[in-house]
This record gives sequence, structure tokens and C-alpha cells, in this order.
Amino acid sequence: MANTKYIFVTGGVTSSLGKGIIAASLAKLLQARGYRVTIQKFDPYINVDPGTLNPYEHGECFVTEDGAETDLDLGHYERFLNVHTSQANNVTTGRVYQSVIEKERRGEFLGKTVQVIPHITNEIKERIQILGKTGEYDIVITEIGGTVGDIESLPYIESVRQLLWDLGEHNGIVIHLTLVPYLAAAGELKTKPTQHSVKTLMESGIQADILVCRTEHELSDELRYKLALFCNVKREAVIQSIDVPTIYDVPNMMLLEGLDKVTLKKLNLPCKNEPDLTQWNTFLQRYKNPKHRIKVGLVGKYVELQDAYKSILEAFIHAGAANEVRVDVESIHSEHLNEENIEAKLGHLDAVLVAPGFGGRGIEGKIKAIEYVREHRIPFLGICLGMQMAVIEFARHIAGLKGANSTEMNEQTPYPVISLMESQKEITHKGGTMRLGAWACELSKGSKIYEAYGKKEISERHRHRYEFNNDYKEQLEKAGLQCTGINPDTGLVEVIELPNHPWFVGVQYHPEYKSTVANPHPLFVAFVRAALNNKLKKN
Ligand code: GLN
Repeated sequence: MANTKYIFVTGGVTSSLGKGIIAASLAKLLQARGYRVTIQKFDPYINVDPGTLNPYEHGECFVTEDGAETDLDLGHYERFLNVHTSQANNVTTGRVYQSVIEKERRGEFLGKTVQVIPHITNEIKERIQILGKTGEYDIVITEIGGTVGDIESLPYIESVRQLLWDLGEHNGIVIHLTLVPYLAAAGELKTKPTQHSVKTLMESGIQADILVCRTEHELSDELRYKLALFCNVKREAVIQSIDVPTIYDVPNMMLLEGLDKVTLKKLNLPCKNEPDLTQWNTFLQRYKNPKHRIKVGLVGKYVELQDAYKSILEAFIHAGAANEVRVDVESIHSEHLNEENIEAKLGHLDAVLVAPGFGGRGIEGKIKAIEYVREHRIPFLGICLGMQMAVIEFARHIAGLKGANSTEMNEQTPYPVISLMESQKEITHKGGTMRLGAWACELSKGSKIYEAYGKKEISERHRHRYEFNNDYKEQLEKAGLQCTGINPDTGLVEVIELPNHPWFVGVQYHPEYKSTVANPHPLFVAFVRAALNNKLKKN
């Protein structure tokens, strides 16, 4: 523990201030200065993980290599840092209680009364230090979900207080993110909410070391001085975080504000090297100066909430920059698609992505969309449920299997072209029981997918229960569907394509989880290129 330094990021005043982006941006700057950094998130809700949450609750569920179903902030951490996260990087109150209760049942507390303090707080403290103790990181950033003052956050705040005490000076610091609202009627920025939230933190025994103030207007020197004085932090530790056009601008903005410098100073770490952001800035340059513009439809049923498809939207940004193309994503609600409006909704698009999802709502609209893009030769990418729907569409309309379906949607279907794997049939618990995390896949030479990756062996992340039913493989292949990616260990179909279409690919896995600024995902890069080719051909 001695050598690893800890940074805690807390939030005050309101939620949705972007703690995850601030944490990721600071981590990026520290990484760019040569430090080994990771970020973890502690969430105060009682679900054991976000896997069982509806995307309308907290947005997308992000999946790590080792199959953890996590908060979408972990996606930001990976996209910014280009370093994998793991099971240990996301902990919830549910997980903490589950493990304390299991210990109690095993008799590990030796007859003691098990209490929030010290048992829950000790469990939290231990979990905060798991990654630090591996010796792989110089700095561990811990984001505490929720807002300071919430009842459910209290055990975390107390754990942080104790840990700061254990770690000693310069080994742990607290960055507090708050809102400085602008009152239009008064024409003024207001510091009082920040003062109150810092005070709330102090009541729990924690003095913030650095304030990051989210604002819509520039903070004047006077106001910064006032915040410093009343919140008991150094003047240089008042950092402004003003709204910017893209989250990818935040690291440079934090660099200008000196967040990395003041952090290192507080941790007694040398400001070795100026941060090397060359690659990052090349990406930004390309992203902001596109040579072309394309329109891609995103067909899904959670489209009202941007965060539900976060990783897909970010993957388009990375792949767009790689192609020097601006990708305008048009959200299309699958429930509202029908024979009458399909042309109006999809006809003008350069490409269509059919999104992942669960359950029957909106799937006929997805199938309709796939039929349309297949017939109109519009580039198509189907992800997970999107791929499964492409198989069903093909089975119904080309292979003559009328009423083909997934047993997820209709257990009585005469042609279950998508069905449960044997190993899934016995499972009754919903949490953490899907096919999760990284699985190997072998691609066929000469296919679109092979061309995209430029290699035969790949590994991608999964999150699903249902699979392509191999009983129908021969029949579907005879009708013209190609299975171009196969899991070498299980024989499961991971990729399907239509060879007599300009670009029609469905993948059972989730490529979007692995796209980062430093490594735009090759499949998204190829898909955007196909969309661009389609557009150029039309003009
Ligand atoms: N509902 C489908 C399954 O469980 C697809 C899941 C997904 O799209 N992530 O197999």
C-alpha cells in the first residue's frame, strides 16, 4: 500500500455533474505524465451489479474483459485510458453487503455483532485497496457515486475518511466536484451551494483538497478566491470545469486549469515530464475537422435515453475520427417502425445499426428495418440482439422458415433459429448468469469481417443468453447466409454476413465495449467506411 497513492472523487450539489469524465480526464493527464493509473467506481445502490438494471435507470451496462457487468463510467475510463478495467473496478453496496453477509454465515466474525461500522466500512476499505495492492498502479482514483449528504453514501464517506487517516498525509486526497449555478435573473454565479456541500463533507470529517466547479460561465478571479477562502482550499485548488462541446476536450481543459499539477503537488509526487497528449490531440484534430459527413440510423428501443447506447455512440466518434468523417447518428425507435413509415425513416440513411436489447418489445420493427436495408443494399451492422434479428429476418424471408423466431420472444416458434444454449437452460437466477466477457472467435478469410480486422483470431466481449441455433446452420447457409466467425471452442456462431450485399454484418458480441480513443474499433471503422462509400456512390 505504501507506494500507491489514492485520489477520491466525490460529488456535491447535484448528480450528473460528470464525475466520471473528470476522473477519467485527470487519469489521462497523469497517465500522459508517465504514471500508471486506474479508476474504480463505488456505487451506493443495493443491486449487486448493474446487470439487472433497466437501461432507463442508469444507462448502458458496460462489460469488462473478465465479464463484470458494470456502470457506464467504466466505459469512459477505458476509452480515455486505453487500459482494461475488471471486476474489482466497480463495487456496489449490494456487493459489499453480500460479501459481509456471506462472511457472517461462514462464522468469520467469531460471534461479534456485525455492524455498518466497522464491518461494512472495513469491507469497503479493503475493496478500495484491492487494485492498489496489486502493485500495478502508482495512483488509484476512486469515484464515489451519488451525492454527498445522501443517506446511502454515508458508509462510503466514512470509509474514505478512515482510509485518509490510515494512509497518512500526501498519500490520499479528495477532489470534490460541485456545481456553481448561474442565476440568469440576477446575472450572477452562485457559490453558496458549493459552500454547503463542502460543509456537509466536513461534517463527515473530510476536508476537500481540490474543488472542481462545474459551471456554464467563466469563474472570475474574485469568485475563485471566495470559493477558496470559504471552502478552505488553496486558491490553485479551485478548478473550473466549464461546459465544452465534447467530453474529449475535458483533459486539455483540466490541463489548462492545472488539475494534474495541483493533484501531484498534494500527493507529493514529482511533475515528471510534461503530459504527452500527441495521440489524443491528433484524434481531436481529426474529430473536429471531418472531410465528410454521414448519417447512420441507430435502431433500438431505448433511444429516448442517450446513455442507453453510450459505448456505441462513442465508438462512432472514434471510428468517425479514424475515417475523417463526422457521423451523425439518428435515433430510430424500433417500436414505431412499420411498413408505412419505413421508407421515410430509413430511406435517406447511409447505414443502419440495429442495437442490442432484451425482450420482445420493438423486435418486429427491428426485423422490418433489417428487411429494408437488406433489400435496399444499405450497409448494416447488427449487434447482439441486432444480429439475432438479422438471422430471424433471413430465416423468415429468404430461407422460407415462416414464423422463425428466438425462443426469447416466442417459445412455441416452429423454427427456433435463435435459442438457449443447453448450459443456460437450468439457470434460474438473472444476475451475472449470461455469457459474459471475452470469448475467442475465428474469422473466415475473404469475409467482410476478416477484412475489417485484418486477422483470423479475435476476442470480443459478450453479454447475452441466447445463441444462433446450430441445428439450422446448414439450412440457412444453403439459402445464402454466411457464418464467418465461429467460437473455436464451442462451435457457436459469432458472426453472420450476406455475401451478395455491399456490407451486411451481424455480430453476436459487443464490439462497442472495446473501442477507445487510442484504438478505434476495427469493425466500427469498417462500418463507417462502408457507410461513406455508400454515400459517395449515391452522389
Ligand atoms: N436478448 C438477447 C440475448 O439474451 C440479446 C442480448 C443483447 O443484445 N445484449 O441473447
